[in-house]
Amino acid sequence: MTDTENGQERLGVEIPRRGVDRQTLLDRLRALQAGDVRWREHKVFGLVYKHSDAHTEFLKEAHGLYFSENGLNPMAFKSLQQLEREVVRMCAALFHGGDGMAGCMTSGGTESLLLTVLAYRNHARRTRPWVRRPEIVVPESVHTAFIKAGECFGVRIVKTPCGQDYAADVREMERRITARTILLVGSAPCYPYGVLDPIAELGDLAARRGLPLHVDACLGGFFLPWLGDLGRETPPFDFRVPGVTSLSADIHKYGYAAKGASLLLYRSPAVFADQVFADVDWCGGAYGGATLAGTRPGGPIAAAWAALHALGREGYVENARTILEAAGRLIEGVRAVPGLCVLGNPVIGVVAVGATDPAVRMYAVADLLEARGWHINRLQKPESLQVILNAGHAAVIDPLLADLREAVGHVRAHPDAAFEGSAPMYGLIANMPLRRVVRKNLVAIFTKMHTVGEPGPEEAGEEEQDPVAVPPAVLWLMRTRARIARLFAARRGD
Ligand SMILES: *Cc1c(COP(=O)(O)O)cnc(C)c1O
Repeated sequence: MTDTENGQERLGVEIPRRGVDRQTLLDRLRALQAGDVRWREHKVFGLVYKHSDAHTEFLKEAHGLYFSENGLNPMAFKSLQQLEREVVRMCAALFHGGDGMAGCMTSGGTESLLLTVLAYRNHARRTRPWVRRPEIVVPESVHTAFIKAGECFGVRIVKTPCGQDYAADVREMERRITARTILLVGSAPCYPYGVLDPIAELGDLAARRGLPLHVDACLGGFFLPWLGDLGRETPPFDFRVPGVTSLSADIHKYGYAAKGASLLLYRSPAVFADQVFADVDWCGGAYGGATLAGTRPGGPIAAAWAALHALGREGYVENARTILEAAGRLIEGVRAVPGLCVLGNPVIGVVAVGATDPAVRMYAVADLLEARGWHINRLQKPESLQVILNAGHAAVIDPLLADLREAVGHVRAHPDAAFEGSAPMYGLIANMPLRRVVRKNLVAIFTKMHTVGEPGPEEAGEEEQDPVAVPPAVLWLMRTRARIARLFAARRGD
């Protein structure tokens, strides 16, 4: 064996014959992280939810205590079963449910929603077997995990346009209910705009039509309950609404748990039972479980249990106060920038920023912000930007607004900025009828990323870095369309 075989240059190529020195490996991991987005400087939104350094250290300790435990067999690690039951019970109380309800923890919002769709599909198969092609009616703003679930479990997801306020349009949803409908969905709030759907009205509709209603509170489940303590009453979104039959809430978002923790709760154990898998014929023995995973890491369950207790209602309320104050400053600042607006009425720390002036192309603004180190989500329908605030962002609202003002000023003065950098590509995806082509490209990118031997995205050549490159003719069309839009806007005088 040569020295270099165990040196850094061989790492990640093949499993070394002799184990590599552990310090070398930890150094390598730290070096790799240096190239990531700088979330510790609060320049990233939504991917990391952090309460405080002290809380993070505490979470690591709780997580570490259950590093090896496995929730697969609840008879083996009874303590894990107890922790999960206690989390479900505490959350049932938080969401005004309680005794007689059934729920579980999952690995995240996506798994919670996959299980939701699976449960109601199975339930419909049992109770309404004549429904051959089940459908779920959702507002367009619903999380795309529902689309994924529809693909996985053969359920058609029927999207409904939102109202002017970006909230679910109850009448439009009612119009889409058919004999095949097995579930209605509302978000509290929705991921893109942070806008609360009218859950009480949806509950009425569901009760009237004899349909179940799932509330996706993955984002707001551990934020909305604190608003009342801060003098901001919000309409009920949970089991206080009689028509609500189930609810999902991510503890690893504003619950400040370790990643891998979401909660799924049903009013009726009979519906929960329809997500439970059981195989009594397997050679490996009778096997069952309530979630999609087999082996279930104990760490996230223990850390979620610990987080809810450690922060307590007061801890969450104080944190929400900081975030709402920051969101208020951001919203006020955005509204003061000519050409910008806030989409809808955001209720928590999630704010979507759009343009009132067609000359302000938000994807061009995003490119300029990105050049300054900000990692901001780009939304479509309409072209807009979105931030998800944590308490740490309170310190960067002013510099963010300053950069935003400057970027908008630049884009207004240089309308062609919308056709440079990555802006036209995003614009194309958002506006083109050729979505199938874009989708194929996206699938190709992910497949390539996971293919052995090919260069990773960072080593790829120029051309490969931009696989959805916009052809010049299309670019010309987009430019012309934008000019015409600006011309009309100028005529109208706005
Ligand atoms: C984040 C989110 C999800 C998906 O959760 P993951 O933990 O990312 O899988 C689903 N719904 C809403 C409203 C969300 O905000």
